[in-house]
Amino acid sequence: MNKIEGVNLLVDNADIGFVANSIGIETVKRGSSYFCLCPIPHHHDEHATNCFFKDGDNYMYCLVCHKTIDAIDLIRYTKGVPFYEAVRELWELSGCPDYVKIDEKKNTKKNLPLDYKTLRFLGITLPSYIPVPVGIDDYNRNAGRKKNQEKYSYMSNSLEYVRCKRERVTWMDFISTESLAEMVLNRAKEKMKAIQVCFRNIEDPYMKKILREEWDICVKAFSDCQNFLSSQNNPV
Ligand SMILES: [Zn+2]
Repeated sequence: MNKIEGVNLLVDNADIGFVANSIGIETVKRGSSYFCLCPIPHHHDEHATNCFFKDGDNYMYCLVCHKTIDAIDLIRYTKGVPFYEAVRELWELSGCPDYVKIDEKKNTKKNLPLDYKTLRFLGITLPSYIPVPVGIDDYNRNAGRKKNQEKYSYMSNSLEYVRCKRERVTWMDFISTESLAEMVLNRAKEKMKAIQVCFRNIEDPYMKKILREEWDICVKAFSDCQNFLSSQNNPV
């Protein structure tokens, strides 16, 4: 059995909106709240009107189930992964905080500590949904459908109406962790060069401060990837 410490704190600190967004959950903003389909499996929710959270919330709440849903539950229910894996994913999304101690018996391979914020900063966007064709229509079925009715999605750039279903995906479906690390390493290098050039041409102290912060993000991503890649080549 794997031992984990600090899970409660991790859950209490989680930004539920960021987690929902990172694992590809669609949200609709109404007023100051964000609504999404209830992730609890026995609630076969079809309209995003019951389950909600606000900016900066750590939990979401479903008015039908009368239940608070934390980030680990959200990951478990949405991705169908066991508790331990959900903790691990939340830990990574939270930037791998030190107060969580994950004691792994089997897996001694070094983990790549990258969060989605860093990836986005480096201009690496990974799809959370892909369109999967399910049929061909001879006319656009969306014509005449009312505003609040769900729309069919069609593949763009095709002559026929190729109807698609949105399939949830994660970056692991596309590339290996090694390839991602190499990609991040190169992007961080490019970005650092660009920052150096900017830094020389900018006088404004505030801008210089921002550039320094961006530089630190690049350095961290760079060294994390380098450590990860060298641990893959020379396992402990
Ligand atoms: Zn519910």
